[in-house]
Amino acid sequence: MFFCCASVNYAKPKPLDIYFVDVEGGAATLIVTPLGESLLIDSGNPGDRDPDRIAHVARDVAGLKQIDHYITTHWHQDHVGGIPRLATLIPVIHFYDRGLPENPTSDISPELIAAYKQTVQGKSVTLNPGDEIKFQSPKSLPSLRLRVLAAGGLVLGEQPGVPQIKPCGPHFQPQPEDKTDNVNSVGFLLTFGGFKFFDGGDLTWNIENRLVCPKNLVGAIDVYQADHHGTDVSNNPTLLRALNPRVAVIDNGPRKGGDARVYATLTSLKEIEAVYQLHRNLRTNDKENTMSGYIANEEEACQGNFIKLSVEPGSKSYTVSIPAKQISRNYRTRRSG
Ligand SMILES: [Zn+2]
Repeated sequence: MFFCCASVNYAKPKPLDIYFVDVEGGAATLIVTPLGESLLIDSGNPGDRDPDRIAHVARDVAGLKQIDHYITTHWHQDHVGGIPRLATLIPVIHFYDRGLPENPTSDISPELIAAYKQTVQGKSVTLNPGDEIKFQSPKSLPSLRLRVLAAGGLVLGEQPGVPQIKPCGPHFQPQPEDKTDNVNSVGFLLTFGGFKFFDGGDLTWNIENRLVCPKNLVGAIDVYQADHHGTDVSNNPTLLRALNPRVAVIDNGPRKGGDARVYATLTSLKEIEAVYQLHRNLRTNDKENTMSGYIANEEEACQGNFIKLSVEPGSKSYTVSIPAKQISRNYRTRRSG
């Protein structure tokens, strides 16, 4: 007697992988699902360096033949700058953004917008709070969901015209109104079974407060990509306390982001287990940087080392590693039971 079923896939299930590519103070986060579908969030700066690094991780490390989905969180050059060249290095299929700016403010480069338009050829999709990007997700694996919680200056449930500064909460302390495109960033929650990851682009202080007050729209998470490269005009402690992450990854550069106050807030959180940095912040001291084993790039003249996070297929635990340093540590998911 033998048992056979041709439709059963005996291949070992793959993890959900997240790569934090070093684009030196820009953003480029690559997610690869257990079925090999891919999503890139932001594409670093213009020029060759950042698109080349992203293409290297996508093709040579993750083994991708194409990028299925690509989100530009907002229109600053350290987020949208790399996509025109990247799209010549590896096919990019679906484009999403916060909406093309009707009246670009002075912090948005018309040349970058023109280059983006040329790349997407009219095929970009505007994301709004509540939208989802669908992935193939077989029943045998934990469910995989990406939900947009902020975009275009609004958070989930808000109507256009809402003031940026909305008093809320016992510790409400606004910062001056942010007139840049940072406030329009796409912010989303990725859920894979019990694992939760939040990426808020460059969202800033006042809108961060609205994400968690009066209602915490994000919930408690496992992994937090520090908003705005860990800059202290972002990373409102009210947001960080509400998200209560166990692991934070700061996509800073040697002299950009990873601010001392943000590092102090992150390490003061109740359940924080580790803070990772793409770069040592050379403007602050050792106590204001995470430990050496959690920093992907120590020197300013760096190799562009990336950080890799792998969630095991059952979603009960995940590993964060810095492959170039052969360092790896395992964490349990918050809802692993
Ligand atoms: Zn940025």
